[in-house]
Amino acid sequence: MAESNPAHLDTLLQHTGLAEFDSKTGAAPVAIPSMRTSTVRFRDLEALDAAHAARARGERVVTYGRVGMDTHAALEDVFCKLEGGTRAVLAPSGMAAISLAMMALLNAGDHVLVADCAYGPVRTLDAAVLQRFGVSVSYCRGTVEAFEAQRRPETRMLYVESPGSLLFEMLDLPALAAYAGEHGLVMVVDNTWGSGYIYRPLALGADVSVVAGTKYVGGHSDLMLGAVVVKDAALAKKLTDIHYALGLHVSADDAWLALRGVRTLPIRMRESARNALEVCRYLSQRPEVARIYHPAWPEDPGHALWKRDCTGSNGMLAVALKLDQAAARRFVNALQLFGIGYSWGGFESLVQLVDPNALKPHGYWSDDGHAIVRLHIGLESPADLIADLERALQAAA
Ligand SMILES: *Cc1c(COP(=O)(O)O)cnc(C)c1O
Repeated sequence: MAESNPAHLDTLLQHTGLAEFDSKTGAAPVAIPSMRTSTVRFRDLEALDAAHAARARGERVVTYGRVGMDTHAALEDVFCKLEGGTRAVLAPSGMAAISLAMMALLNAGDHVLVADCAYGPVRTLDAAVLQRFGVSVSYCRGTVEAFEAQRRPETRMLYVESPGSLLFEMLDLPALAAYAGEHGLVMVVDNTWGSGYIYRPLALGADVSVVAGTKYVGGHSDLMLGAVVVKDAALAKKLTDIHYALGLHVSADDAWLALRGVRTLPIRMRESARNALEVCRYLSQRPEVARIYHPAWPEDPGHALWKRDCTGSNGMLAVALKLDQAAARRFVNALQLFGIGYSWGGFESLVQLVDPNALKPHGYWSDDGHAIVRLHIGLESPADLIADLERALQAAA
């Protein structure tokens, strides 16, 4: 089959990372197998020398198992297609991908501006690792004005997440990218929410996109994986060098599972997004609901930015309930179709009662005493999910 260049991600996702045809038989399996190995053997020393030379030119060459062979390369290709990058580096979790990006791109003495809506464990990374290695971090609202107020001569990185964790605050990525460019800051975006399918930070001006493949890419709540994607060769070199030095590796079986999962990313995400909007419509009519946080919901303050910068949505939403904490706990406990648990992006619906202490650092949040409940709307029938919510709201009353 000739190389084709389809314009739509839905098509690209089904035609990227396939197994190569066997040169003798002209045949190939449709799905690439899981290529497990700890090391690589070479026909002769000349082949090994050629591999080293190719690596020195910046090519993806495997001389040892840690880099990962064809299955890993296929998944990297998929991440590049999704994010519009030229190089993707895999990590054993989303958090490991964030750590890799920071460790590869920061030096002792550097300062980082972090959006206050970023994934909570970034603060743990800061306290447990970055501070000890002489990197300092300031947290602020994800706006140009807020960042500018905290910028220092030694600021080197702008780290943001849009929409933000817990309340899905939309940030103006193109404006932030222009600001980062003006001041020579490398801009890193946690794009787990968009996963390259509905939101593409590199196309909006970011330098680095980090994705927890654990969520929508894997899509089946059965693996942990992350990726760092870039379009600049110098950044790619730093990332691949530090990736190798830190010894990060993803099991071939997990890379294979992620490849299997990502083929259906478009339909899973679309369906979750559609179901989530139905749930929003139901919730918006309930007297217990004070506010819905979901950028695809027309009343969300980020809706205009979402319409401008995103091509779709997903199953994540948060809801502020006019319930005290005890009633909110009754509500969550009464849900039967929503698993009580963290994470999201799988096939199933999940609920998390958000700890108000986790929201205190978010400038987007105003504490008016309402309980915040985060929902991941999965692939169940929305009618059943709504009936479950209705039952649980009655139980909470
Ligand atoms: C879950 C998540 C991560 C971390 O991913 P893990 O694979 O669980 O380490 C990072 N960022 C965001 C926004 C997430 O939701």
